[in-house]
Amino acid sequence: MVADCGVSEARAAVRAAYEAFCSWREVSAKERSSLLRKWYNLMIQNKDDLARIITAESGKPLKEAHGEILYSAFFLEWFSEEARRVYGDIIYTPAKDKRALVLKQPVGVAAVITPWNFPSAMITRKVGAALAAGCTVVVKPAEDTPFSALALAELASQAGIPPGVYNVIPCSRKNAKEVGEAICTDPLVSKISFTGSTTTGKILLHHAANSVKRVSMELGGLAPFIVFDSANVDQAVAGALASKFRNAGQTCVCSNRFLVQRGIHDAFVKAFAEAMKKNLHVGNGFEEGTTQGPLINEKAVEKVEKQVNDAVSKGATIVTGGKRHHLGKNFFEPTLLSNVTQDMLCTHEETFGPLAPVIKFDTEEEAIAIANATDVGLAGYFYSQDPAQIWRVAEQLEVGMVGVNEGLISSVECPFGGVKQSGLGREGSKYGIDEYLELKYVCYGGL
Ligand code: NAP
Repeated sequence: MVADCGVSEARAAVRAAYEAFCSWREVSAKERSSLLRKWYNLMIQNKDDLARIITAESGKPLKEAHGEILYSAFFLEWFSEEARRVYGDIIYTPAKDKRALVLKQPVGVAAVITPWNFPSAMITRKVGAALAAGCTVVVKPAEDTPFSALALAELASQAGIPPGVYNVIPCSRKNAKEVGEAICTDPLVSKISFTGSTTTGKILLHHAANSVKRVSMELGGLAPFIVFDSANVDQAVAGALASKFRNAGQTCVCSNRFLVQRGIHDAFVKAFAEAMKKNLHVGNGFEEGTTQGPLINEKAVEKVEKQVNDAVSKGATIVTGGKRHHLGKNFFEPTLLSNVTQDMLCTHEETFGPLAPVIKFDTEEEAIAIANATDVGLAGYFYSQDPAQIWRVAEQLEVGMVGVNEGLISSVECPFGGVKQSGLGREGSKYGIDEYLELKYVCYGGL
């Protein structure tokens, strides 16, 4: 059972966060750091229960849920360290009797809206940075995953993080629009941080515009995965499996389009299909050996099905999979398509499911043109053994994150975010805390 909050609870949460901000901002960085560290320790102590909550909420395999909890906890550990490393500057201007100082101060209350696919990691990545900076937060988790957000709040409270600093307002999908609008337009809120679809992100940007709030947006992607002739096939297949099928294809950095050069194409497709059959096991997330759980709901299955049917009707070939899985209405078979062309839906619409479409190409220029022919740019991957080509392609891909001969790129130490309509700002890393800090210039005269 979980509360279904409405606009009045959302406003009350913002008020509580604002009141808590007035004292939280005065807490020393060392003390904030130590509270975040205690929260991290509690996450580690309770990691098994937290992982089970995530699997129960979303169906993802327990092993992946464990991985997510560790990844989430590491954000708290990281930002507990970064909290003590917020520095300012002193600038010497031409005026001899003045000094210029730059202070970094917390932005204020942050409204945080998160998706269901990495419920815990999306929260700690944002809340860890916000609290480290001295901000307080109101979190609206996705309808499907409120329990992980509430469990994190319980642990935050046990860690000694004061009431009002981290507030959660779970709400049903029917209330999401109003609750989202209430927290994103409230004058007491100074910052909006959102992870989710580009469509919702644009709505929230409109909300932010009226009162000119700071925004961070982590939105959808359409990641290209390019395999050049010089690539090592085994490495490329391992990377393709990892980047495509994590969380059954439901991550924003999942490869969406495979571009494979003519010379290596047949070998790659054959090895990829064999690896999929050998390594991917669809099943109940709680069962040992399951690598692919259900999709989040039947609508998600319909989207994959529609993309497969569209591709096949336009000439694509099903190499493996291609239909719903007999386990139930929310399951879809891991699917590999070849002979894919750019007029097919799956090459320009984010799939968010276990579908790998392969497009054949001839030249590097052609691959880059296809990869960049989209208005989003989150992650991109490519496999090549040619050092000059590696530099050229890494620099030319219009994305925020590049995996070179690597399919798994996320790490708390590295900046996560996209270009174009994939978002604004970066999370994690030494840059993530800046999203919650204002610069104040102080001109100190009379020297
Ligand atoms: P979504 O539909 O945009 O939902 C994300 C969150 O926004 C949920 O909490 C949702 O609430 C809420 N929401 C929906 N409509 C809203 C509105 N009008 N006003 C305020 N809040 C609203 O996205 P999703 O389906 O959960 O997640 C999938 C998308 O997220 C994909 O496009 C994926 O690429 C992207 N994503 C991006 C990143 C990244 O870091 N760039 C990471 C993960 C996912 P309800 O759950 O109640 O609908």
